[in-house]
Amino acid sequence: MKGNAVVIGGGVGGLAAARALALKGWGVAVRERSPALPATGTALGLWPEALAALDELGVGEKVRSASARVADAGTAGLRTPGGRTLVSMNAGGGLHLISRPALLAVLADGVDLDFGDEVADQRGLAGVDLLVGADGTNSATRRMVFGERYGARTLGAVVWRGTVDGTVGSYGETWAPGAMFGITPAGPDSSNWYACLDAGGTFKPPHRQHLQDVFGSWRSGVAEVLERVDEASILHHELFEIPPLPSYVNGNTALVGDAAHSMAPFLGRGACEALVDGAALGRCLGEAATVAEGLAAYDRLRRAKTQRMAAMSRRMGRLAMMRHGFVARNVALGAAGGVLRLGASLRHR
Ligand SMILES: Cc1cc2nc3c(=O)[nH]c(=O)nc-3n(C[C@H](O)[C@H](O)[C@H](O)COP(=O)(O)OP(=O)(O)OC[C@H]3O[C@@H](n4cnc5c(N)ncnc54)[C@H](O)[C@@H]3O)c2cc1C
Repeated sequence: MKGNAVVIGGGVGGLAAARALALKGWGVAVRERSPALPATGTALGLWPEALAALDELGVGEKVRSASARVADAGTAGLRTPGGRTLVSMNAGGGLHLISRPALLAVLADGVDLDFGDEVADQRGLAGVDLLVGADGTNSATRRMVFGERYGARTLGAVVWRGTVDGTVGSYGETWAPGAMFGITPAGPDSSNWYACLDAGGTFKPPHRQHLQDVFGSWRSGVAEVLERVDEASILHHELFEIPPLPSYVNGNTALVGDAAHSMAPFLGRGACEALVDGAALGRCLGEAATVAEGLAAYDRLRRAKTQRMAAMSRRMGRLAMMRHGFVARNVALGAAGGVLRLGASLRHR
């Protein structure tokens, strides 16, 4: 079927949904409160399902050519702050990294997108054939549908992230009690980093000195990255997730991306799932005879899978930063030995 849709939010999920619906012949308008697409941002890891969704949206090749393939950076590792490798990780060659601005620019190309257009009253849009809430972790559309009960809740952790010029000697993650630091390639001549602490509330700037104090003695590229970090480019925020929703649809409204399943970032899957949501929503509505039928199919296809992913991501964060039992964890990881096919095992869930 075809109709007219309004998408609230021009992030990864909203733009993916808009492209997918437009490909099925829908008239789609995206309303985004920001004044323009972001010019800066860190890298997002894209797993094979996300690339398949991008192929379905007709932009897979453009995204591949604007991204770095993790396999090209060699094997990454899980390490201790002292530099001991617990596990060598093989991303299976399927993981691509792309900067968020580059991904959004590709997705936005050709989409009817209004910037500086904040939707203040979601209920006022109830008359459209389809309303897509792609308005992120603090989604007002979700609040309209489910009330305050499913609001974002803190994960009790904060993150700092950014990119630095140049490549780094070793990629991967370093795990310590209550803290972790990750480094990935971000492009042919830049690297992406993120640092996490299990602290409540955010920290005041300057961040660089604080990061040096906490992580500056860590090996395996961490100190090397921190030397190159520019204070002005550091992003810092608390981490949130939302509880599992009873449905991703209600009446003529669908939730996609973080609005539906904002999750801990420890598996790097939130944007991937938002892309898959968008493609699935377009497919389900394109194939259905009515909006209700299409939305029911979308909910069946996406809710259980993404809620499982969110639970795994939360558990991954707890495992990475556990304060008790980490010696046993490290021994167990070491005993897993060889190349842990993390990439392969996570890809197909
Ligand atoms: C530290 C960290 C690392 C991550 N790394 C990865 C990774 O490697 N790979 C990965 O797949 N995911 C990753 N993620 C997750 C990913 O960033 C999110 O899941 C993804 O951006 C969600 O996209 P979205 O479009 O659903 O929401 P958002 O990106 O939040 O977009 C929502 C949009 O809606 C707009 N909006 C909100 N309210 C309104 C309104 N009332 N009117 C108009 N516009 C509105 C906002 O301005 C925004 O542009 C990471 C997240 C974090 C925190």
